[in-house]
Amino acid sequence: MSDTLFPKLPYKLKQRADEATVNIQLQQFVNHATYSKDVARKQAMGGAFGENTDAVRDLAGQIKQHTLDHLDHYLEQFIDNATATGVQVHFARDGEQANQIAVAIAEANKCRLCVKSKSMVTEETHLLPALEAVGCETVETDLGEFILQLDNDAPSHIVTPMIHKDRTAVARAFQRELGAEYTEDAEALAQIARKHLREKYRKADLGISGGNFLVAETGSVVLCTNEGNGRFCTTAPRIHVAFVGIEKLVPRLEHLGVMLKVLARSSTGQPLTCYTHTITGPKREHEHDGPEEVHVVLVDNGRTDVLHEDTREMLRCIRCGACLNSCPVYRKIGGHSYGAVYSGPIGAILTPMLKGLENYTDLPHASSLCGACYEACPVKINIPKYLIQLRRDMVQNHLSGTGDRVTMRLWGESLQHEWSYRIGGWMQKTFARMQAKFGGTLETDDPYASRGWLTWAPGPVKGWTQERDMPTPTAKSFRHWWRKEHGR
Ligand code: SF4
Repeated sequence: MSDTLFPKLPYKLKQRADEATVNIQLQQFVNHATYSKDVARKQAMGGAFGENTDAVRDLAGQIKQHTLDHLDHYLEQFIDNATATGVQVHFARDGEQANQIAVAIAEANKCRLCVKSKSMVTEETHLLPALEAVGCETVETDLGEFILQLDNDAPSHIVTPMIHKDRTAVARAFQRELGAEYTEDAEALAQIARKHLREKYRKADLGISGGNFLVAETGSVVLCTNEGNGRFCTTAPRIHVAFVGIEKLVPRLEHLGVMLKVLARSSTGQPLTCYTHTITGPKREHEHDGPEEVHVVLVDNGRTDVLHEDTREMLRCIRCGACLNSCPVYRKIGGHSYGAVYSGPIGAILTPMLKGLENYTDLPHASSLCGACYEACPVKINIPKYLIQLRRDMVQNHLSGTGDRVTMRLWGESLQHEWSYRIGGWMQKTFARMQAKFGGTLETDDPYASRGWLTWAPGPVKGWTQERDMPTPTAKSFRHWWRKEHGR
């Protein structure tokens, strides 16, 4: 598993992408799930906000942008207010430090069993192996994450971690790891998981969660889940530790309302997630339930580098997954091809920022720049703009490959002069049409309409013709036709 999200660096995407594109099962699972979620998002956003949809996205984006522009102020406000409710707030510079804090809390409280709800930040810091290393058993409780843990597999989608698996994989995992009878019945499978996890909740002394939002004015951690496991993890054990990225702040509860409205609609097409928990401090004296201690670990882990005003907008992300669902590249290559915790369009810009552009030079190119991600994003992160910005940074920092550099240099030179552009165009056309002629696919009757098909092309076009044929240019160009018709 660790190799899937934490591959050897520098990471090259090609091998996994090649494998994914010929994996018919993966194509079916990912395509079906992302397509239906994309449709559900459009219907939910359009149904709720109608012609104001864009204005609501603007507002959500502005709330996040304002918070990021004044992050120091809101962080201090959050720390003061959370501390006043009895929460112990910690700050972690990087993943290792965040894990050390959690391990120290577990050891100080002699925790032996940890139940964890879904959290991308803990994936980022690789928390569970750190807890296991000090003898604290860990159990994922989000159903998808639980199955992945049984399979020693890794999440491939921000919201739907086991999007690459189906029910039969779950049945096999439960039979193999839990000794359950093989069944593909969804309800029966849910019951098996429920029975197993209930026992764990009862015995656990440490609960780990993430946090979808932090509210500065109340010092609250807000969790949005659909399975209720978040509530068990944050209330049943004696100790609750929340790992939250520093960018998850919103100023006030009224802002939280806006974010909740767009989060669920954008991720699953629901008006609201089934459970929305607002955790404000540990158990009070007169209360029977709830943890004795609540710790919030504010995780930086590269985020302050992204906070630079040129890239700050990326931190607006509320991890709804809408950009993944709408992306034709993600649908084709799946989440594991990105070689990092964050996949899809947001991963293609965030991962190089958090883990070094030199380590992920393929990711800014893992996009057709169609703009579907920008249209889907509820906080209006201009992902295509950042993809281009990262490509420019690669060129400026000499990180692009020699082949790319030479090709672009030649291309640029040929565009400088009309004569070189014409010669280049003529050579391409002649080569392509000759090849099509020898391949027997060329129709020759109309010089302005006749096209052939290339089944093989060299160099950078090779990848295209491996998957589909490529049309050749016509024998006579549009410019030629214009001159002939209009005499100029
Ligand atoms: S970038 Fe936008 S669409 Fe993608 S996960 Fe983040 S908030 Fe959602």
